[in-house]
Amino acid sequence: MGLSLRGLRLEELQDVCVAAGLPKFRAGQVFEWVQAKGAGAWDEMKNVPASVGEALAGAVDLTSLEALKTQVSRTDGTRKYLFRLGDGQTVETVLMLYERKVARDRATVCVSTQVGCAMGCAFCATGLGGLVRNLEAGEIVGQVLEIMRQVRQEDPEFRVTNVVFMGMGEPLQNYGSLLAAISLLNNPKGQNIGMRRMTVSTCGIVPRILDLARDNPQVTLAISLHSARDEVRDRLVPMNRHYPLQELMDACRKYIEITNRRITFEYALVKGVNSSPQDARDLARLTEGLLCNINLIPVNAVRETGLERPTEAENAEFARILTEAGVEVSLREEKGSDIDAACGQLRKRQGGEFLVLNGKV
Ligand code: SF4
Repeated sequence: MGLSLRGLRLEELQDVCVAAGLPKFRAGQVFEWVQAKGAGAWDEMKNVPASVGEALAGAVDLTSLEALKTQVSRTDGTRKYLFRLGDGQTVETVLMLYERKVARDRATVCVSTQVGCAMGCAFCATGLGGLVRNLEAGEIVGQVLEIMRQVRQEDPEFRVTNVVFMGMGEPLQNYGSLLAAISLLNNPKGQNIGMRRMTVSTCGIVPRILDLARDNPQVTLAISLHSARDEVRDRLVPMNRHYPLQELMDACRKYIEITNRRITFEYALVKGVNSSPQDARDLARLTEGLLCNINLIPVNAVRETGLERPTEAENAEFARILTEAGVEVSLREEKGSDIDAACGQLRKRQGGEFLVLNGKV
């Protein structure tokens, strides 16, 4: 099997074309068909002769991800896809639609970057099974392209406007493929998704946060924070034992210094764990003076984790304390709650086993 065509940068594809005895300009045509229009077969590429597909067939692989299952929310149109990868592994991807009155509508795809995850966050059942493998760039980009392809069958004008790397896996642990996927999705001859419309979410891999600041200063960084106290965060996000809060916050300060970009802190409110008024005051103190906003997420009640949501009144009080302290706060809009797609926790039953595919909260 050849290189995944969806994971090849234009220059790489040019090299492949030249090596196959084809003129360089064929690479540009093929790239556009694949990356902009989501072509899934050589005969879909109208201005590309069949001989090009034949010449490249051994070198590159054009197989699309296979959508094994799609669920559509009846309340807000959120779609959850279960994709099968070439080796039979599966990942989940979510499309969230936001209607806007003034600006154009937003269509955000939440992609997975790994099969499973090694990070073991307490609220996340993806981590329960450990890491299976990293995704290749073509498999990450392929999630966006396949969703675009499918939705365009109903709506030919459909465009993916935003991508969040928040599905299964820790994106900064698959750094090479992440950067390649960002670059491909940003390419003006492809999806042309602005850097600022892409969000990388991490549980706090400090050295990689600084790498990202240098390599891709325009993407949006989201950090799964979940507590302002090390003893609590150690339990919720075990990576905190390697990179405790002080190191993480130092990295955030450097990140902002380098990029001048606002950081989003994700904070899942868990009853009796991190949602008291004192937790809110600690959080306000921790983030004081930082260019940031805090995204509060009522944690999804997942049976395996045993975690519960606070009441709405407790959530409101938590938000009020932060706001009064001058912190910018938002409460994440719930999407696809009827298909368990909200707040990054996606659940699925497959082959009789309870399988939870999850993203960061
Ligand atoms: S929340 Fe994210 S980083 Fe943590 S275990 Fe789950 S997938 Fe991994």
